[in-house]
Amino acid sequence: MMERVREFCFPVMATKREKRLNVAMVFATPFMFASMFAAFIWEDHFTVLIAIFIASVGVVGGLHLALKAAHRAALDHLREIEFLLCPACQSDLQASSTAGRCPSCGRPFKADSISIEWIERYERLLKRIEPENEGGAEL
Ligand SMILES: [Zn+2]
Repeated sequence: MMERVREFCFPVMATKREKRLNVAMVFATPFMFASMFAAFIWEDHFTVLIAIFIASVGVVGGLHLALKAAHRAALDHLREIEFLLCPACQSDLQASSTAGRCPSCGRPFKADSISIEWIERYERLLKRIEPENEGGAEL
C-alpha cells in the first residue's frame, strides 16, 4: 500500500530536474484545490482566496508544462546513453558492461531489460502528464 502511494506520488524518474518538478507538483496541486474550497467556505475572504486559487492554477499549469518537457528531455537523454542508467539509484551504467551489478547500489542489471524497464516507465509517466497522447506515439 505505502509502496503504491510512493510510486504514485514520487515515481522513479531519470533526472533530478524531473524529481524536483514532481515534488513541486505534489505540493502545489492540493494547495490549488484547497484555496478553491477555502474561497467558498470563508466567503468573507472570497476575492483574496479566488486570487490565490487563480495564481496557483498558473503555477500548477507551469509546473505541468515544465515536467512534460523534463520527461521528454530525460527520455532523449536515456536514448543517448542507450538506457544505461540504474533504475534503482539513477547511476550511470555506461562504464559497466552490458550486464552485472550497479556499482553504486548493487542492483543486478541487464542492458536489454533495463531499456525495456525505462521505456515502460516513461510510457506511464508521459501518459500521466499528457493523457491526450494515448500510447505515447513518440516512444
Ligand atoms: Zn544503482
